[in-house]
Amino acid sequence: MDFDFTEAQQGFRQDVRAWLATNLPEDLRGRGFASSRGEPEKVVRLREWQRTLHKAGFVGMDWPAEYGGRGASLVEQVIFYEEMSRAQAPQPLNRSGLSMLGPTLMKHGTPAQRARHLDRILTAEEIWCQGFSEPNAGSDLANLQTRAVLDGDHYVINGQKVWTSMGHVADWGFFLVRTDPAAPKHKGLTFILVDMKSPGLTLRPLRQITGEAEFNETFLDNVRVPAANVVGKVNEGWAVALTTLAYERDVLTFIRHISLRTALHRLLEVARRTPRGGRPAAHDPVVRQKIAELLIGERCLQLHGYRSLTRILHGGAPGPEGSTSKLFWSQLDQDLAEVATHVIGPYSQIKAGHPLAPDEGQWEFYCLLARGSGIRAGTTEILRNILGERVLGLPKD
Ligand SMILES: Cc1cc2nc3c(=O)[nH]c(=O)nc-3n(C[C@H](O)[C@H](O)[C@H](O)COP(=O)(O)OP(=O)(O)OC[C@H]3O[C@@H](n4cnc5c(N)ncnc54)[C@H](O)[C@@H]3O)c2cc1C
Repeated sequence: MDFDFTEAQQGFRQDVRAWLATNLPEDLRGRGFASSRGEPEKVVRLREWQRTLHKAGFVGMDWPAEYGGRGASLVEQVIFYEEMSRAQAPQPLNRSGLSMLGPTLMKHGTPAQRARHLDRILTAEEIWCQGFSEPNAGSDLANLQTRAVLDGDHYVINGQKVWTSMGHVADWGFFLVRTDPAAPKHKGLTFILVDMKSPGLTLRPLRQITGEAEFNETFLDNVRVPAANVVGKVNEGWAVALTTLAYERDVLTFIRHISLRTALHRLLEVARRTPRGGRPAAHDPVVRQKIAELLIGERCLQLHGYRSLTRILHGGAPGPEGSTSKLFWSQLDQDLAEVATHVIGPYSQIKAGHPLAPDEGQWEFYCLLARGSGIRAGTTEILRNILGERVLGLPKD
């Protein structure tokens, strides 16, 4: 791809920058870095923020215009994300809806499902969560046991999901359930849309290492869901789920890159102002080398993201090679957290709310949250297996 920006693209950058300077609320500035997004009052604020972004045409930048998106070019998207990072603005709240379910419905959904849901995803009127993982089906997702049985024109769902991020504030969830227990485990699965307020559906929050309870256990006890909510064909949900997972690992990682870049810029600022041996830590040769490694890694991640998105924009779909971005991002995210802890020292452990907490305690949150980066959206070991077997063609054993 051509890395030079045209005059029109430079103009777009100026427009986005000016818009963010005027419209990014003061209390959200710098909050794109690291802070809880699961607390109900934060959700209200971030929902409003997504609405504001949407009104300005900045949500669903990559969605086709027929589905309410901007149909933007890759370059425009990149410019937008770069400017969001520069302004340290939080991302749109409805991440699962925008980057996972939306593209899945565009590929596998019925016209009625698209008409019902896509617009409300863009405006954050309805927040989505992902109900895939179960206590015995995480990495081995196809092992899931939640059962759905057809009863008239409804499915009756019984079972348990776990690690449902944002489930407690979500309006809807996209679930993977077993509809044919006699079939081999990758067959007999169905992808279905569930109203999170359905009778029989209960949530129990799980407190995480960061102290927040952003994910949940989800219990389904005779939950009745219209059969019209099945996405794709009954018993062929695995193929639909693979679309969702590919977008989660590829496009969503591109967006996660914003937070990483923001964190890296903040780390540079911290290193410049934190004294070490009578001079700023940024002048320490060991710290400099570590930060340089992170900057190089961040650039590689960015270029790899451009390559994947270029392929998608040219009509391709995210494939197994998208797992490289997720794998590399999670490693870089954890390295960054480690370097930050090294630079800031014991102060990096002080929580938000204490006057001695650097960057309002966001480093404490970031460093703890990074522990999960190698687990969510596919663990590091599983992604290595996928890359080894499906991209490099290595033998399974
Ligand atoms: C912050 C966070 C948010 C999440 N949000 C959601 C969500 O919204 N919705 C949702 O459905 N899920 C969510 N998850 C769940 C996530 O997808 C699973 O945690 C992940 O798939 C791993 O599954 P598991 O926890 O059951 O671990 P397990 O599958 O039990 O794995 C345990 C360990 O064994 C290793 N392992 C397992 N199998 C193999 C193998 N074949 N080869 C080599 N190593 C192996 C794993 O790499 C891991 O280290 C979230 C997780 C986190 C951390």
